[in-house]
Amino acid sequence: MRGFELVHPGSLADAIGLLDTDDDTVRPFSGGTALMLMMKTGVFRPSRLVHLGRIGDAYSEITASPAGGLRIGAMATLSALEHSPEVIRVAPVVARAMTRLANVRVRNVACVGGNLAHGDPHMDLPPVLAALGGSVSVAGPQGTRDVAVEKLFSGYYETVLGRGELITDVVLPSQRGWSSAYLKCTTRSADDWPALGVAVSLRIEGGAISEARVVVSAATEILTRLTTAESALTGAAADESTFARACEAAAAEAEMVEDARGSADYKTQLLRVYLRRALTQAVQDGAVS
Ligand SMILES: Cc1cc2nc3c(=O)[nH]c(=O)nc-3n(C[C@H](O)[C@H](O)[C@H](O)COP(=O)(O)OP(=O)(O)OC[C@H]3O[C@@H](n4cnc5c(N)ncnc54)[C@H](O)[C@@H]3O)c2cc1C
Repeated sequence: MRGFELVHPGSLADAIGLLDTDDDTVRPFSGGTALMLMMKTGVFRPSRLVHLGRIGDAYSEITASPAGGLRIGAMATLSALEHSPEVIRVAPVVARAMTRLANVRVRNVACVGGNLAHGDPHMDLPPVLAALGGSVSVAGPQGTRDVAVEKLFSGYYETVLGRGELITDVVLPSQRGWSSAYLKCTTRSADDWPALGVAVSLRIEGGAISEARVVVSAATEILTRLTTAESALTGAAADESTFARACEAAAAEAEMVEDARGSADYKTQLLRVYLRRALTQAVQDGAVS
C-alpha cells in the first residue's frame, strides 16, 4: 500500500473544502470498512483520506422529526441504527435488517453515509430506505440538496454525488400506517453478501392495498423500484392471488445479473419466492402505529 495523507477536519465546511478537488484519489472516509478492502486489494490508492469522525456530533445522531419521521446522521453506525429506540419505534424494518447485515464487528464501525455512498448494489440498507420513501441530505461546495434514496445510484458502484459532495443525513418520512419487510437470500454462508434483496412497503386500508413500494437489489446492477409489481398490488386485496400476480410482474420486469451467486434465471425465481414471502411478512407484521 502506498503512503497517503489522513486528515481530520473539525467541521463539515472544512471537510467539503478538503474534498473539493479534481484529484479523484481524495476521498471521504467514515467507517472505512469498504475503503480498506479496496485499498488492501490495490483497487483504490488514495492520495488523501478525509476522515469525517470529527465534523460534529450532530452527524452521528438519530432523532425523531416533529412530523413523526426520523433524521439519521450520516456518521451513525449501523449498530446505532440496529439498537436505536427511535428506529425500532418509527421504522422497525430498518433495525431488523441490520441484524443480518455482515457481522457485529462491521456494524460497529460502518456508517450509514458510507453504506449509501459506496454505491454497491449488494448493500442491505439502501433498498430498505428506498422502500420507506427515504432521502439523503447532501452538502457540497455549491450548497445543499436532497436526493431520494431510490435516485441516489447512477450505475454499478456509482452515485449521483458530485465533486466535494457529502451525505450528511438520511431523512425518513413518518411510517404510520405502512407495513414493511425486507428479505435477503444468501446462496453461500448465512452472513454472505445477498444474491437478492427485496424490500416492500404497503399501505393497506380496509383490506385493500392503497399504496405499494417494491424495491429489488443485489441481483440487479442497480437498486431498482419494480413499478409494474407496484401497479399489480395497488388497489387490489392484500391476499395470495394479488401477491402471485405481483410476483409474476416483478419477475418479468427485473433485469437480473448473472454472477458467482447464481444465474439470472435462478435470481428471477428467487425474486418470485422472496417477494411473495416479503409481502406476506409485511402483512403479518402489521402497520407501524
Ligand atoms: C466482511 C464484510 C461483510 C459485509 N457484509 C455486508 C452485508 O451482508 N450487507 C451489507 O449491506 N454490507 C456488507 N458489508 C459492507 C459494509 O456494510 C460497508 O463496507 C459499509 O457499510 C461501508 O460503510 P463505511 O462507513 O465503512 O464506508 P467507508 O469505507 O468509509 O466509505 C465507503 C465509500 O463511501 C464514501 N463515503 C463515506 N462516507 C461518505 C459520506 N458521508 N458522504 C459521501 N461519501 C462517503 C467513501 O469515500 C467510500 O467511497 C460488509 C463488509 C465487510 C467488510
